Amino acid sequence: MNEDDVYVCMICERAGTDGIHILSQFICSDCEAEIVNTDVEDDLYDYLVMRMRVLWLDLIRMETDQPPGSTFS
Ligand SMILES: [Zn+2]
Repeated sequence: MNEDDVYVCMICERAGTDGIHILSQFICSDCEAEIVNTDVEDDLYDYLVMRMRVLWLDLIRMETDQPPGSTFS
């Protein structure tokens, strides 16, 4: 047993051991299943999107690791 294997889910904020890691974030298996099964028109989807924006911001930061003022072309 290793306590380091317990992570806090970025969606429900509960501690868990089963789930997926994306960048520095953790999503528990419950929420992972929820995301997969949630319809875009569902109210829950908006909530999940809101929670996952943190993750996307991380991704964007990584992909656009350039000084400000870089031109888009
Ligand atoms: Zn969760």
